[in-house]
Amino acid sequence: MVQCEKFEYDVLVIGAGGAGLRAAIEASSANVKVGLVCKSLLGKAHTVMAEGGMAAAMANVDQRDDWKVHFADTMRGGQYNNNYRMAQLHAQEAPLRVRELEEWGAVFDRTKDSGLISQRNFGGHKFPRLAHVGDRTGLELIRTLQDHGIHQGIEIHQEHTVADLIKEGDRVVGAVGYDRERGRFKLFQAKAVILATGGTGRAFKISSNSWEYTGDGHALAYHAGADLIDMECIQFHPTGMVWPLSVRGILVTEGVRGEGGVLRNNEGKRFMFDDIPDLYTHQTADNEEEGWRYTQNDRDARRPPELLTRDHVSRCIMREVREGRGTPHGGVFLDISWIAEKLPNAEEHIKRKLPSMYHQFKQLANVDITKEPMEVGPTTHYTMGGIRVDAESQMSTVPGLFAAGECAAGLHGANRLGGNSLSDLIVFGKRAGEYAANFSQEHGPSTINQTQVDEVIQRALAPVEREGGELPYAIQAELQEKMQDLVGIVRREEEMQQALDIISELK
Ligand code: FAD
Repeated sequence: MVQCEKFEYDVLVIGAGGAGLRAAIEASSANVKVGLVCKSLLGKAHTVMAEGGMAAAMANVDQRDDWKVHFADTMRGGQYNNNYRMAQLHAQEAPLRVRELEEWGAVFDRTKDSGLISQRNFGGHKFPRLAHVGDRTGLELIRTLQDHGIHQGIEIHQEHTVADLIKEGDRVVGAVGYDRERGRFKLFQAKAVILATGGTGRAFKISSNSWEYTGDGHALAYHAGADLIDMECIQFHPTGMVWPLSVRGILVTEGVRGEGGVLRNNEGKRFMFDDIPDLYTHQTADNEEEGWRYTQNDRDARRPPELLTRDHVSRCIMREVREGRGTPHGGVFLDISWIAEKLPNAEEHIKRKLPSMYHQFKQLANVDITKEPMEVGPTTHYTMGGIRVDAESQMSTVPGLFAAGECAAGLHGANRLGGNSLSDLIVFGKRAGEYAANFSQEHGPSTINQTQVDEVIQRALAPVEREGGELPYAIQAELQEKMQDLVGIVRREEEMQQALDIISELK
């Protein structure tokens, strides 16, 4: 029999991104014993990649903003497919959670006059709403949560992969994982388990997502009998790099458009004005004074059409490319350098507000974004679908199993607004931690069925003990290719059926 070291916790958190860390902090502050497991090194979760900011109606930049407007924007952005209670809690609690981060030491950009947390424009948000730290907001979020959480006695198992959950009757009572470096198995017995494992974007070939995004939490929950919802809802972010090929898919933050970047086709035309849904606008307005064109959806709120929702902008880009108005490498142009016409210190402004974008394009594509346009196109970005959770407690349909962050579903409906993920992590991460701690206090210790544990270990070892067979990387590469081609932005019944057949073959 394979050796398996055992650890016992009240609450086990799987995942150390924004959601997992916030959940672990909350649970451990209720004086329960918390274990935290993550696939990569602590501090390296996908959340560090988040750039543009976190949405919270603090009204620091435009006083007309409040939680009701944020709620309405989130519902409209999600095509009203959202869980409305989650959208309400999110809009109401996000400002509290952002201020809490500030109290814990997060150093946000400030407004010039009043010195408040600065907020920037982002797609689908009626008012400037994204609290940010240049274009490195996720890094600051993780740094702050780690600094805060590390002193609370949370036990961490980094570079460990959870292979399966363990159940006693209906209830989840633990997980089995392995140490990625040493290959040793560990059993984590727990009274409550929180999944905070992120998304599934690595199932596609062109993706902005980190290597960790293989949908582990979705699969763990599904096999434990939990409901998954909205799994067809995948977000394709309109602006990923398209050239050179080796970096295709890497994200170009919406912050570029939030800071004034415009989209043009190969005729130099701002094509987004050609297709503005009625839902968003009544008229198009020129503002000669600022040399700037807006769509206008009421008397006061003006936003460029480049900041319509991501699903819509992605479809418009695809249309330009398909109809022959794309760039040499199959994208469109995104130009922020034009703001030099408006701002005397534009170069410095771009480097200060978008430092990562400046370096990313300079180093990877030899493009100076302060002087020339970027080539961009859609990239797989976010999984709206996931584990069905109760809005208040974040418990899944399986007792003792909770979920928060990108692996949970409901808040974003059919399409997530930019910035609503980071605020999702801190609002619902906190809730998951709180309710999981309560659950662990209300439910007695469990017993572990050793046969279940042995089976998980056998399944995990099977691919490495098998003689011959196909290389897993080749299978993953084929899966990614087919998902991209057959179940990407545009989906047709015949192609989806073809994809299903191929997936069963790969399985
Ligand atoms: P993650 O941060 O991905 O953490 C998942 C954790 O689960 C990791 O620690 C991982 O190791 C662990 N894990 C996974 N599987 C297992 C397993 N089997 N066993 C053990 N551990 C496991 N959103 C915004 O709101 N604003 C932005 O500006 C923004 N910018 C973005 C920029 C980029 C380039 C990308 C890719 C996304 C961006 N997003 C943004 C989206 C946002 O970053 C993510 O949705 C969010 O960080 C997800 O956080 P999470 O805590 O749910 O998961």
